[in-house]
Amino acid sequence: MADAEIGVIGGSGFYSFLDDVTEITVDTPYGSPSDSLFLGEVAGRQVAFLPRHGREHHLPPHRINYRANLWALRSVGVRQVLGPCAVGGLRPEYGPGTLLVPDQLVDRTKARAQTYFDGLPLADGSIPNVVHLSFADPYCPTGRAAALAAARGRDWEPVDGGTLVVIEGPRFSTRAESRWHAAQGWSVVGMTGHPEAVLARELGLCYTSLTLVTDLDAGTETGEGVSHDEVLEVFGQNVGRLREVLFDAVAALPGSEARDCPCGSVHEGWDLGIQLP
Ligand SMILES: [Zn+2]
Repeated sequence: MADAEIGVIGGSGFYSFLDDVTEITVDTPYGSPSDSLFLGEVAGRQVAFLPRHGREHHLPPHRINYRANLWALRSVGVRQVLGPCAVGGLRPEYGPGTLLVPDQLVDRTKARAQTYFDGLPLADGSIPNVVHLSFADPYCPTGRAAALAAARGRDWEPVDGGTLVVIEGPRFSTRAESRWHAAQGWSVVGMTGHPEAVLARELGLCYTSLTLVTDLDAGTETGEGVSHDEVLEVFGQNVGRLREVLFDAVAALPGSEARDCPCGSVHEGWDLGIQLP
């Protein structure tokens, strides 16, 4: 029997998602995930929580082993993933405390492994084929609907849709970069939403991003620009209600076998060359 069906990958300031947990370590063909998986129950659902940066926050965004993280979650049975993360707002109306559930993604990372299907052999000798999956709509429609309804149910009116641009980091944007991102019409900027989303897609997992705005990015304010202390402070102020929203979203997700979204059938017609966990 699977250990969990829903995965939550928690970001900055979010290390105590579940109360009553069983800690397990999982190894993958891609190395170790960011930390142990913490298994627990939410509203009768089995949940696996993974601290994205490690519990001591020792992994900067560009050194997170995203492939190991998603693989580890799938290997314990997870088929649906919620990915909360801290972001900067690119519009004045998206101030600190805004919850935005994006429907689009722009990748501006530079040096991250972002596919399982790279044609390179795994340790067991199997070789993944080169596979090109659709990523036009990067997020699960069912998961997005659950997240939006959960936020509204907690009187936290979310922004429904928008574009998350993911930068390499770990530095924040220059003012010129931030103005450029905003001028493209993009909504929020973060450092971890990619390749998390695409790797989930490649494993046939539902993936939903919940972005919490912790600051107005460098180009949208006249002050000193964003600081890490500011990010942590705002995240700390909102972590309680974000946890409530995530719990409600977990409860609202369909059973893994009852998924009717396209996420689980992305591999149809493809010979992957490897066995997914
Ligand atoms: Zn889905």
